[in-house]
Amino acid sequence: MTPPEHTPASPRKRPLAPDLSELDARSVRAWTESMAVSSMGRGRYRVESESGNEYTVDLARSDCSCPDHELRRERCKHLRRVALEVTLGNVAPPGRVRETCAACDRPSFVPEAGPALCDRCRLEPGDVVRDRETGDLLVVARATDRRADEWFLEGVGSTVADHATNRGYPAADVVVEAVYPFSDSARTSVLDGKRYAFPRSRLEELDQQFIR
Ligand SMILES: [Zn+2]
Ligand SMILES: [Zn+2]
Repeated sequence: MTPPEHTPASPRKRPLAPDLSELDARSVRAWTESMAVSSMGRGRYRVESESGNEYTVDLARSDCSCPDHELRRERCKHLRRVALEVTLGNVAPPGRVRETCAACDRPSFVPEAGPALCDRCRLEPGDVVRDRETGDLLVVARATDRRADEWFLEGVGSTVADHATNRGYPAADVVVEAVYPFSDSARTSVLDGKRYAFPRSRLEELDQQFIR
């Protein structure tokens, strides 16, 4: 099932940058001055200003170390510039870091804590997946941040990574717990079924949600 394409028949003509004559002076400088913005993690950013000074912006707290902000309590051009760069996708938003997604190898902004998976590759409860080994359809019950070589399977006596059917998948994969949706009709919710642990990349995400 592919989602419908949202391409309008005749796209509206519009400029990409804002009309600078409509903006106040600080916003104009935020758009037009040469600045370098880099993420320091935990929602903090280093801004090298056009004049060569370096300031620290805390986006969540709307804080900047520059005199304009500290003395006049204005939303300075550095704060505005960081918000712009985040909005345009040039630097990581708070709580994210730029990294290669462990599943699809694409550069992405992945969560600072937890597995390095992009939004597309991170599974959520209710996502429908296909087991690449057996072709079976399953429903995700829980995506964990634990590694397959650290997850011990009680009944089997090995880790998820060491299990014979999982040898072809990276030992550092995160473990995903999934249920077989049609194995037991008596239970009230699909996600109450018996959970099985898989290495993330063994499960192929299908573009579906299970309707309970
Ligand atoms: Zn500032
Ligand atoms: Zn990915």
